[in-house]
Parts: sequence; C-alpha cells; structure tokens
Amino acid sequence: MLIEEHFPRNRRTLKEGRHNMYCNACGKAIAEDDRVCSRCGKMVGIPPTPKKLIRSRAERKIAGVCAGLAEYFELDVLLVRILCVFITLASGVCPGVVTYLLAWIIVPSEPELKMAVAAQQPVTS
Ligand SMILES: [Zn+2]
Repeated sequence: MLIEEHFPRNRRTLKEGRHNMYCNACGKAIAEDDRVCSRCGKMVGIPPTPKKLIRSRAERKIAGVCAGLAEYFELDVLLVRILCVFITLASGVCPGVVTYLLAWIIVPSEPELKMAVAAQQPVTS
C-alpha cells in the first residue's frame, strides 16, 4: 500500500502576484515575463532552483528519509543514520520513531527513474 496516495502533497497553489521585478545588474524595472533586461541585456527572472528534500530511492534502507537528509545536507548517509539512531535512542525511542514516520509521510519520495518507464513503453515512430 502506498502511503502517498492518501496524503496528496505538493498541491501548493501559486498565486499570481503583481510584483515589480528589477534587474539585478542595473536596477531597471522589468516585466515579469522578461528573460533579458532591456537596458543591460543580463538574464533575469530565473530564480535558482531551491534544493528539495526528497526520500532517496537508490540509498534507502527503510523509507529513504536518512538518505534524503544526507543528500540534502551533503553528508555521508552512514553519518546521518548513526545520528538518527543515536538521537532516537537518546530521546527514548518513541519521539525518534514518530519523527521518522512523519518524515516518511511528509517528505515526498524521489520520482522513479524515467528510464524504467521508458523501457516499458515501445518506441513509436
Ligand atoms: Zn539590467
């Protein structure tokens, strides 16, 4: 049974805000859908992609929470696991286990490899 199906996430509705944007290089006000500043020609409007906490598939032992954390903080998976176990034991087991289960529910799983999907679909040409 997939827990994910009962807890739809990532349904954040993005409100279209009328924010004025300004060129980072010259400070000129630019339109929201502009990609290039009309005055100095610098690329604008492309925010850096924020890092996402996901449960790793490749490195997972139970649900991939520790592996996901390790990936996110660029730490060794083993170190994160040891820390998790230590914190769990030090906190009297229950809080750690509950936190892990909550993370299992809250943190989205890494999407399945597209290659696996592609392999099952015949190429139509
Ligand atoms: Zn500019």
